Amino acid sequence: MTSGRATLAVVQTAPRSLELRELPLPDTGPEDGLLQVEACGICGSDYEQYEGALPVRFPLIPGHEPVGRIVELGDEAARRWDLKVGDRVAVETLIPCGFCRHCVGGAYRLCNGHRRMNAYGYLGLDVPPGLWGGYSQYLYLDPHALLHKIADSVPPEIAVLFNPLGAGFRWAVEMPGLAVGDTIVILGPGQRGLACVIAAREAGAGRIIVTGLDADEHKLALAKELGAHHAINVQRQDPVPAVREATDGRMADVVVDVTAYAVDAVNQAINLARRGGTVVLAGTKGPQAVPDFLSDRIVFKELTVKGAFGVDYPNYERAVRLIESGKYPLEKLHTHTLPLADAERALRLLAGREPGESAIHIALVP
Ligand SMILES: [Zn+2]
Ligand SMILES: [Zn+2]
Repeated sequence: MTSGRATLAVVQTAPRSLELRELPLPDTGPEDGLLQVEACGICGSDYEQYEGALPVRFPLIPGHEPVGRIVELGDEAARRWDLKVGDRVAVETLIPCGFCRHCVGGAYRLCNGHRRMNAYGYLGLDVPPGLWGGYSQYLYLDPHALLHKIADSVPPEIAVLFNPLGAGFRWAVEMPGLAVGDTIVILGPGQRGLACVIAAREAGAGRIIVTGLDADEHKLALAKELGAHHAINVQRQDPVPAVREATDGRMADVVVDVTAYAVDAVNQAINLARRGGTVVLAGTKGPQAVPDFLSDRIVFKELTVKGAFGVDYPNYERAVRLIESGKYPLEKLHTHTLPLADAERALRLLAGREPGESAIHIALVP
């Protein structure tokens, strides 16, 4: 427990250095609010941040996938968000400026109005009021935050799946224009790969194929349980002939790469797409160059290649509605719930660095 108006929060002070601190709660005004965090999902990029691989300024509170209950809300904020104290909301990562050419053009994901990464989990304690991360009991609700109301009936650790599921809808369905009956190959069976399986099934994909490694056997099994038709272990089987066989030689209408660091997957994606097909690249590579990359393959096959960065409002809405529907056994994706004090272990678990444990989705619960 904290004393007075204060919150416990995990503060990252340097690469691989986390500490639990008590911080003061800010006074809120007419345009902002305060969220009591119920859970925060852990993202692959959280581990990169932990290792110091992201361009952020320490100290900061990590965590950009929070769900919680509004405990303070200004009158103006209540009117604009159409929310009230006590409502439960999922909070989007980005806090867009609302005025730059990207924001007003409808692509607020690309907002550069702040001249910095203006987002939950990435702003430092030096930016007032400092409570910008989900690894905390309380989170500041900025006037420009984007919020999604979510039903009280959903357990907090499942509610935070709005983030990977939103990615599934945007990356596997909306961006490539996945149509009923299409074949989709999803490279990488982590939380976002599995979310792509669910989104593809919702969109009526005809054939869903997922690839992974030896270490992913449990994730590949879950992919099939969630609706994938084929799972390919690329350490045992070359995915190109395997997909050719599974599709009677037609190959994939859509390929989505959600693997982290795996540069080979980019060439695989290009080889697995049919002529005229679409490739969505969403997994970041470290950053490393792709060896043996032949751009001519994109030309000769007339592929459409798209880079996917983040999720947006309509796809988060789809994710929240799907979670509330209870249509899928989402609890099977969620493998670990841990307290704030175990944030470091949670990050190591997600990165597969805790021997003998196999995590898919992890939530920190304050
Ligand atoms: Zn994330
Ligand atoms: Zn903007």
